[in-house]
Amino acid sequence: MTIGVRVFIACFVALLGACGEKKAPAGPAEQPLQGAPEAKAAKGRLVMLGFDGVDPRWLEAWAKEGKLPALKQLMEENGGKGYLRLGSTNPPQSPVAWTSFATGTQPGAHGIFDFISRTISDSPTGLPVSLRVATTSFEVQPAGPPVARNLRTGTPFWQTLGNDGVRVVALNVPYSFPPDPMRDGRMLSGLGVPDLRETNSTFTYVGTDVTDDRVKRPPGGGVMVKLAMQKGLGHFDLEGPSVPGGDDRMKVPVEVQASDAGMTVVIAGKAKALRVGEWSDFVELEFASEGTRVAGIARLLALETGKQTRLFISPISFHPRDPYSAISHPRSFSGKIADDLGHLYKTVGWDHDTSALNAEVIDDGQYLADMEAIEKDRTKMLLDRMGKPDWDLLIWVSTATDRAAHMFYRLIDPQHPRYDAALAAKYGDAIEREYKRMDATVAQVRKQLGKDDALLILSDHGFHNYRRGLHVNQWLKQQGLLTLRGNAASSSREFLLDVDWSKTKAYAVGTGQVYFNLQGRERDGIVPRDQAAALGKQVKAGLLALRDKERGDAIAVRNVYSGAEVFTGGRADAAPDLQIAFAENYRTSWETILGGVPAALFADNDKKWSGDHAASDVADTPGILIANRPLSRGEANIVDLAPTACGFFGRAVPKEFVGKSVLQ
Ligand SMILES: [Zn+2]
Repeated sequence: MTIGVRVFIACFVALLGACGEKKAPAGPAEQPLQGAPEAKAAKGRLVMLGFDGVDPRWLEAWAKEGKLPALKQLMEENGGKGYLRLGSTNPPQSPVAWTSFATGTQPGAHGIFDFISRTISDSPTGLPVSLRVATTSFEVQPAGPPVARNLRTGTPFWQTLGNDGVRVVALNVPYSFPPDPMRDGRMLSGLGVPDLRETNSTFTYVGTDVTDDRVKRPPGGGVMVKLAMQKGLGHFDLEGPSVPGGDDRMKVPVEVQASDAGMTVVIAGKAKALRVGEWSDFVELEFASEGTRVAGIARLLALETGKQTRLFISPISFHPRDPYSAISHPRSFSGKIADDLGHLYKTVGWDHDTSALNAEVIDDGQYLADMEAIEKDRTKMLLDRMGKPDWDLLIWVSTATDRAAHMFYRLIDPQHPRYDAALAAKYGDAIEREYKRMDATVAQVRKQLGKDDALLILSDHGFHNYRRGLHVNQWLKQQGLLTLRGNAASSSREFLLDVDWSKTKAYAVGTGQVYFNLQGRERDGIVPRDQAAALGKQVKAGLLALRDKERGDAIAVRNVYSGAEVFTGGRADAAPDLQIAFAENYRTSWETILGGVPAALFADNDKKWSGDHAASDVADTPGILIANRPLSRGEANIVDLAPTACGFFGRAVPKEFVGKSVLQ
């Protein structure tokens, strides 16, 4: 993300919050949702539970083995008609699929095709193509808080229903930030809520082992801070939000006192004792700059004292009781949830700190301990709301099943480059444990259902192994379809910075997307529109013929979809020209996502992020759908859930919805 020219650096910092949690005074009592009961057609209530990335193969196997009793029961009752493999979107990934869930439309209509999208510039100077986050923008303003915008097209079904007499509670639904206002609804935004640095989630690592080079080149999703210790004391500034209109970040001064026994962190004169290896509870932070005060919360983890002093600070979440920008509707709802929980909770949408584990600044056990705390809170939020009487539709999503599979696939695959037998013995059941947690949650929810209540459990896509990455831009280069400046063989820079656009026909960014350098569309386009289809066929044939010679001539690509055929609708103009569907064990390389052109064709995936699905084939990456009543047919797609909810409450299905109800 580009940070514009910085205008002024004027920042004074105050830290008014205490270390450790301070119970904020309770706000006005929450009023029950009213709704319009006379307009209700349904006798019961509808509960929709989303578990991101649950793969039917694992679900079916573990249910069969008796490890998931509540889910097994649901899958078998009603003559087995309450379970099916749910079709995902193309590509089968969370931003795309959850937006289809919300809007009842396909990507060509809602406009979200990946985590990353590209912007074409007409300006004669600068880059013709730049990258941005596809789902949400959160732009710093000259004054006041950043402005949040959801970049999807379409109206989420819960908003339609919440404005039509159905009392809605939506908790943690992905890519629903900023929150959707509703007359009779409450919602807490999930994925898409940024951290206080206006990013997806950025951790802070502070250590005496941090080098200047590491500060300049931090790992993805993190910032590195050098710490100098003298006589057991060190100081640093913790950076928070951007100063409105300015070039600097608001900062909080922190003192670190290290001893053999542990570490004490002093923030604004308040001391917090930390034991090495143990997460703190949430620490309240207050940043300030020229009249703007911003409250945040973070967890601290003392990693080491002694030879080195090392401290980890989780991405700074918006304070649920005093959010910089609303993360719930109504705005006060995020604070009410904290009141119900009895403590603060992580509000950043990307809640599981995968970047920190990928950067290996925290270890597997520390990551899983944080995951455990997050999921306990998520489950309690759900059960707290289930127990209240004032709702008709309750939607809740957990992402732990997805994150566990991304980060721990390596420990169930002895052939993965990051397989480790000792770690596998300790954490090899991490994915299975999240499926068991899902099962336990479902069992608890079922106990609270009335006889007319409907329960739908879904996942947005399945999962695959990710052992090897294909440098798609290097492949395009070797086909003569992409040229680097000076005819270089490769580039160490990302963002397509070294591409010679005058000699480039196709380029890859994102997870599996290929775009043509099209005349009349891209500023420096060279591919005539009437040759695009032929170019697509050429790329498809080449990728399908590609073999990984270092891995026994393995097939890397399962299919290549034509954007013109797959993506139709009002936003199709922004769709990729091709969507690559990778075979098992393969994905777009890390470097390709941000437009890199490394030298080799393939690279081992040496990250702990070891499972994936984002560039897999929609045809073999279904999610799941389980109901506590017979489903109306044997197959369904994630776009069918929105019309199902409308149908359940007897409301007209909006004309833009492309699916149909899965309930009779
Ligand atoms: Zn995922």
